[in-house]
Amino acid sequence: MNKINVMNDTLINKIAAGEVVERICNVVKELVENSIDAKSKNIKVELISSGTKSIKVIDDGIGMSREDARLCFNRHATSKIKTENDLYFINTLGFRGEALAAIAAVSNTFLDTYDGNESTLINIKAGSIISEKVGSMRVGTIIEVQELFYNTPARLKFMKSLNTELSNTVSFIEKIALSHPDISFSLYNDGKEILRTSGSNDLYKTIHEIYGLNTTKNMIKIDAENYDYIISGYISNLNISKSNRNNMITLVNGRVVTNQSVNRAIKDAYHTVLAENKFPVVVICIETDPTLIDVNIHPTKQDIKFSKLESLTDLLTKTIKNALLNSNNTFKGYKETQIHENYTNEEVNNIIDDNDYVLNEDINKVYEEEKQYESIRLSFNEDSEEITYNEKEVEKEEVFIKPVGLALGTYLIAQDENIMYMIDIHAANERINYERYMEALKSDKVYTTNMLFPIQLEYSSNEFMNIKDNIEEIRKLGFGVEEFGTNTFRVTSHPSWLKEGYEEESIKKIFELMGEFKDKFDRIKFNEKAAIRLACKMSVKANTNIGYLEEEELLNRLFKCEFPYTCPHGRPTIIKYPKYELEKLFKRVN
Ligand code: ZN
Ligand code: ZN
Repeated sequence: MNKINVMNDTLINKIAAGEVVERICNVVKELVENSIDAKSKNIKVELISSGTKSIKVIDDGIGMSREDARLCFNRHATSKIKTENDLYFINTLGFRGEALAAIAAVSNTFLDTYDGNESTLINIKAGSIISEKVGSMRVGTIIEVQELFYNTPARLKFMKSLNTELSNTVSFIEKIALSHPDISFSLYNDGKEILRTSGSNDLYKTIHEIYGLNTTKNMIKIDAENYDYIISGYISNLNISKSNRNNMITLVNGRVVTNQSVNRAIKDAYHTVLAENKFPVVVICIETDPTLIDVNIHPTKQDIKFSKLESLTDLLTKTIKNALLNSNNTFKGYKETQIHENYTNEEVNNIIDDNDYVLNEDINKVYEEEKQYESIRLSFNEDSEEITYNEKEVEKEEVFIKPVGLALGTYLIAQDENIMYMIDIHAANERINYERYMEALKSDKVYTTNMLFPIQLEYSSNEFMNIKDNIEEIRKLGFGVEEFGTNTFRVTSHPSWLKEGYEEESIKKIFELMGEFKDKFDRIKFNEKAAIRLACKMSVKANTNIGYLEEEELLNRLFKCEFPYTCPHGRPTIIKYPKYELEKLFKRVN
């Protein structure tokens, strides 16, 4: 039986068209998703001139009958959707019937397909069949789209530079490969391999194949569930930060989606771990009952609606936050090239080699060698294993780290038995103060101190109004405050935790921040911002000379912090160099 059905009109109207093939990467997406639907295990994408000259997708899927091959270029033909209801329970990927027809209308397309029975080679140019004959009899499908937009030069104008088109395509293939670790993907441009995954069905290995060793080493596994959702996957620690969201990949029931609220929940979990304008690498699989989601059916969008959004965002933020807190998160002053003790055997086994890309076919050979090497190294290291385990505990519990001295007036050099640490004294102080202020701001118990000399704060009428809107919130924090003439407040008492000698400055900071919240006050956001601003202000500046006892005290307090590794702005506080890494730098060891 032929697998392709022609959809009815109501359904056609529900699917928006037009922009389907605006970009090279839309075309690649369309073709690749068809290959996935055809149950392919290996999908190879070959581009010439970033795809503007030719886009070729070669798969080893089930192929098509001759009739399906003809029909697939029909507008509104699809093998996926039979009735309108199906749209809401989409489990396969290619639900758009129009794309192939649209692509064929603006290009010279060759389709060579074989389903084991019938072999077909069709050439369609500008939408009309030019020729149809027996094809290569290779099971699977090869589709080549040449000279895209050749007959509609106007469309070409919408295309970005070759580089942008290519990088969009690369980013798409990365995402699709991560969402299908069981399929091997490869991508070539002008004959050069850009990326390749092995189809090992192992997400961690696929992450390694795409992002390389350094990123992979800095990924933390997560696993959690609540009544509505199950989440699993990998998230980067503080050693990885990207300048855009491109590497935040979320899959819902196996499908790549981009949802703002989900992204925000993930970013929230990295609050103070990464700077505001930096983003992590995450690959998170979300499983849920399909009735809880509503997939946007527009072909070029990947958005989704969740009917229990908060349940999901809560789960994501909590799980990621905990994973970050519980992992050994110190910044490394070196790029990781060595398999490290922090990984389980299972994870280590999945690491193939030190190169960012595996360029040859001998993946398994390299993999085996690595495993052998690993077992030798592990047995060699058996004695030191306990020390390694303790290292984490030491950093949290009791501090054996001792100061060595202050370098350049800013960086505290410290050491324990095996590791040298460099600590930015301002950043470290900020972290300590931030956590202290957060604690104080969150606490229900408010202790206040009466001021010997009340202060008056004068504002512009606009500022005054904004602060006045939140006056009750200010009082809740422990401030005694009243209006005092035109646009002026009089403060008579303040919460006791304000740093001595900095009371007036702190009060001004807090009032100023209150004013910024205007009509929508958010206590959690306020606390975080207030703690950060006060912490920065009150922390010892760089180039301050501190003595040995102060250094010791700083280390003590820092390592007692919940998350000592970054300042509240997301910059590193501690950079570590294990002895072994230093020995490597000085060529004492290889
Ligand atoms: Zn600062
Ligand atoms: Zn900072």
